[in-house]
Amino acid sequence: MTPELLKIFLKGIQFFKIETTQEQIGQFSLFLEELKKWNTKFNLIGPATDEEIITKHFLDSLSIIPAIKSITKQNCNILDIGTGAGFPGIPLKIMLPEKSITLLDSSRKKTEFLRYLNKRLGIKAEIVCGIAEEINKKAEYNETQDIVTARAVAKIHKIEKLCLPFLKKGGLLILQISTKSDIKEIKGEIMEKFEPQPNMLPGRTIVTIRKGSIPLNTNSNSEIILKKEVTKSSVKTNKNKNRYTGFTLIELMIVVAIIGILAAVAIPKFAQMIRKAKEGKTKGELANLRSVVTLYFSELEGFQYPQNAAAITNPTGPLQTKYINSMPSVKLGISEHRDTADMDDFNEGDTSTDLGNWGYISIKGKVFVNCIHTDTRGELISGW
Ligand code: SAM
Repeated sequence: MTPELLKIFLKGIQFFKIETTQEQIGQFSLFLEELKKWNTKFNLIGPATDEEIITKHFLDSLSIIPAIKSITKQNCNILDIGTGAGFPGIPLKIMLPEKSITLLDSSRKKTEFLRYLNKRLGIKAEIVCGIAEEINKKAEYNETQDIVTARAVAKIHKIEKLCLPFLKKGGLLILQISTKSDIKEIKGEIMEKFEPQPNMLPGRTIVTIRKGSIPLNTNSNSEIILKKEVTKSSVKTNKNKNRYTGFTLIELMIVVAIIGILAAVAIPKFAQMIRKAKEGKTKGELANLRSVVTLYFSELEGFQYPQNAAAITNPTGPLQTKYINSMPSVKLGISEHRDTADMDDFNEGDTSTDLGNWGYISIKGKVFVNCIHTDTRGELISGW
C-alpha cells in the first residue's frame, strides 16, 4: 500500500474508532495486491482503482463494525451472504479475528479465491459455496447466526427474506443501504441507523434490523392470496359441516404408494435424463471449440495454435466473428458445478483445478473440461 493509500485507509478506520495493528495493515496490503491480481483474471469486483478498492470495498466493509460492536456480545458469530470477493466478510475477519465469520457465495470461482485468501492472509474464515436458499435448510446454518450481512446481493425485500432463516431468534441483520428509497422498502423495524462520513462513503446508511421485527411473509400480494384462501375454505367447512370429505385409509395408502414410487423411480430418472442432456450439449460444444482451434491452426499453416483462451473467446478477434458468436457454457448438471462460460489457461502437465469451466493448453491446442468428476457413464469428464 502506498503512503497516500495508507493515509486514506487510516483516516477511515480512525473515523470508525477501530484500533489496528501493523499486522492487520499488512494483511490489507496483501489483500489489495491479491484482489488486483485475481481481478484481472476472474473479474471479481469489476474495474476499480486502488483508491476505490480502499474506500468502496475495504472502508465500506469496515463501516459496519460500530454497529456490530455497539449491540452484540463478545462471542457472536457472523454470516456474510453473497460475499463475492469477500465483502464485507474478509475485512471484518481481519479486524475481528476472534469472531467466527462464515462467508457464503454461490460462485465457485469466488469461494476458491476466498479459500486462497484464508491461507495467504493467515486468517480462518469459514467458506461455504452454495445457494443461500438451499444452505439455510441445513441444520448447522438454520437459525444459528447472531448477525447476518449481505452487501449488494439483491433488492431489499428479497434480502430480508433470504437472510431471515439463518438468524437466531432476536438475531441482527445489518444492511448497507445506498438510497433513501431502499430504506423505505425495509419491512422490519429499524433498531439503529448510522451514516458514515458523507465525504468518505457518500449516500451510505448502515441499518440494523432485529429478526423478530421482520414480517415472515414480506410479499404483500401473497398475504392477500393467503387470506382469501382461508376465507374460502372456512365458508366450505361451515356449509358441509356434517359431511366427511377426507381420504379413506385405503385411498391414503394408494396415494402414499404413488408418491413413494414417484420419489424412488421417476424423480431420480428424470434428474438423470436432464444430466445426460446437459452432458450431450457440453460434449457438442467441446467438439465445436476444438474445430475452432484446428481451423485457427490450419489458417496459420500450422505455425501456432491460438496462444491463450482469450484468442478463442475475444469477441473482436478474427476467429470469434468467423466461427463462434459467443463462448458456450459448460453444463454438467452436477451439484459441484454451476453452468459457466469461463475458460482458464493451463500449462502442459498442470493438474485440474476442478472449477467446472473450460480449460485450454495452448502449446498443444487442447481444449478440455476442467472437472475431476465422472459423467453419467462413469467416464472422467476431463478425459472427454
Ligand atoms: N457482497 C459482495 C460485495 O459487496 O462486493 C458481492 C456482491 S455481488 C454483486 C453479489 C454476489 O452474491 C455474487 O457473488 C453472487 O454469486 C452472490 N449471490 C447472489 N445470489 C445468491 C444466493 N442466492 N446465494 C448465494 N450467493 C448469491
